[in-house]
This record gives sequence, C-alpha cells and structure tokens, in this order.
Amino acid sequence: MNTLDIEAIRQDLEKARDRLVDQLDELGATPSGDLRSDVDYGDSFADAGAVTAERTERLGLVDALVGQLREVEKALERIEQGTYGICAECGKEIPPARLEARPESTLCVDCKSRLG
Ligand SMILES: [Zn+2]
Repeated sequence: MNTLDIEAIRQDLEKARDRLVDQLDELGATPSGDLRSDVDYGDSFADAGAVTAERTERLGLVDALVGQLREVEKALERIEQGTYGICAECGKEIPPARLEARPESTLCVDCKSRLG
C-alpha cells in the first residue's frame, strides 16, 4: 500500500485554508460567506446596474471560495478523526494519487462522478 504523508497534506490544507480566508477577506466577506457590512459597494459606480453587477460578481466569487474552504475544512476534520483518505460515501480508500492531486477530496472518483 502506498502510504500518504498525512502531515504534509495537513500542512498543505492549512495553507490552502489560510489563503482562502485571506481571499474572502479581500472580497469583504467572512469565512462563512457573509459580506461584511462595513464594505462599501459601488461608490465608484455611477449607475445602480453596474453596482448590482459588481456585487453579483463578487458574491459568485465568495460562493466559490466558501465552497472550497468548506472542502478544505472537511478534509482537515477527517485528518483529526483519522478517516482521511476514506471515501465519505462508500468507505473505500481514495487512491493516494487522487489525494495528492486534490488533497481536499473526501470522495473517491466513482462517488464523485456519481454524485456530481
Ligand atoms: Zn466512494
């Protein structure tokens, strides 16, 4: 069996988490995806349409980042619980090559493609 370097993966995941939290912060959002009320949208935009478009685009980015952050946090939790590398759906081992490519994976390739 190909053994995983869990400690290296944990460090990668922690780095990824910090980076995502920073990116969210730059977008004026909290790690849970709420936009901070102290961030002012659109002073530089003259018309409301542009402000809405800007806000919508920002929310889309925030959503994507929050989704990634959730996955990273889930993977970290699984390391804590000792279930890292086990498919959350079918309980089979996730191939180390997949975990190296995507350390936040919690599903094997089969379940991932089945569940979308
Ligand atoms: Zn599976």
